Amino acid sequence: MDSLWDFPDFDEHELVHFVTDRESGLQALICVHSTHLGPGAGGTRFWHYARSGDAVADGLRLSRGMSYKNAMAGLPLGGGKAVILADEARTKTPAMLAAFGRAVDGLGGRYVTAEDVGMSVEDMVAISRRTKFVAGLPAGEGSVGGDPGPHTSYGVYLGVRAAAKRALGAHSLAGLRLAIQGAGSVASGLARRAAKDGARISIADIDAAKAGALAGEVGGEAVAPEEILFLEADIVSPNALGAILDEDSIARLRAPVVAGGANNQLATREDGERIHRRGILYAPDYVINAGGIINVSTEYLGDGDADTVRRRIEGIPDRLEAIWDESAATGRNPAAVAGEMARRLIGRG
Ligand code: NAD
Repeated sequence: MDSLWDFPDFDEHELVHFVTDRESGLQALICVHSTHLGPGAGGTRFWHYARSGDAVADGLRLSRGMSYKNAMAGLPLGGGKAVILADEARTKTPAMLAAFGRAVDGLGGRYVTAEDVGMSVEDMVAISRRTKFVAGLPAGEGSVGGDPGPHTSYGVYLGVRAAAKRALGAHSLAGLRLAIQGAGSVASGLARRAAKDGARISIADIDAAKAGALAGEVGGEAVAPEEILFLEADIVSPNALGAILDEDSIARLRAPVVAGGANNQLATREDGERIHRRGILYAPDYVINAGGIINVSTEYLGDGDADTVRRRIEGIPDRLEAIWDESAATGRNPAAVAGEMARRLIGRG
């Protein structure tokens, strides 16, 4: 790799800000891909990277992803992401969070942060003592904020229903076989809602106890993690890890629909075409999983209440329909169509 500009995901980033604070030991990177639609918004990841280059690649990839996600959710926000380079012991101190808050503040609102992997609501509260450019703070009585997971989950549920209607002509999930990968925050909300509708649910998690408990609660079955994607099901819903759809796994899928909340499900760009060529309907992940950022955006911009958030999340099925319509009309795969739509929205079409 010659320079920052050569990273595959650099893609005309507007800003890449390197942060070093000797006193606290903070090393971080703040990436802003686009502010075309508004301030670059996206969470902060706290992670130990084997090589600092991996942190740069991750920051750029995630930041660009947020540009696409925010644009496709119809939000007046651009895309950004921060990465804090943790040491092996993942030491996180108040001084580091304060230094990070000062760095965010120094960008004057071009970047707005929130939680991502390794960062908690409490960490956001600490950061908010140094900058106002932060969301994901605890929700006060009757106000918008807090954990984005349940909102993501609601949007994923609506997207799964839309996919079932589109691919299977089903007006409800009643009687449909839903295979859910993961038993965490997003997966559990989906499982509960789908069970209420009468779906037949299979669940897998690398934490077998978690899968068992959720399956028990929703009257479903727990299955082995290595089997879940390949069950004979109506819908497979990945809600755990990224990069699970690759050449090998796509060839082995047996369900006609893949719709779930996990970020970056396609291992490579070609996998969007592979899944399409198999005749499987795919819901682009950053479109179906936008419920959380919709909540964060409404909290940060203060432009609505809980009803506004719900209504905005209920727009997700229409956006998926628009993608699938264009895909049907042009023969291009839904992942490629979503990418083109997003680029048009951020003025880079
Ligand atoms: P979570 O940590 O609550 O749950 C993830 C679950 O996946 C855990 O229970 C973990 O044990 C399980 N898991 C890990 N590897 C697995 C494997 N190989 N097989 C089966 N299960 C495995 O996380 P979450 O908040 O529910 O997020 C789930 C996914 O959705 C992630 O990809 C996340 O990036 C994405 N997402 C979440 C939100 C949100 O608001 N929480 C928003 C957008 C996207």
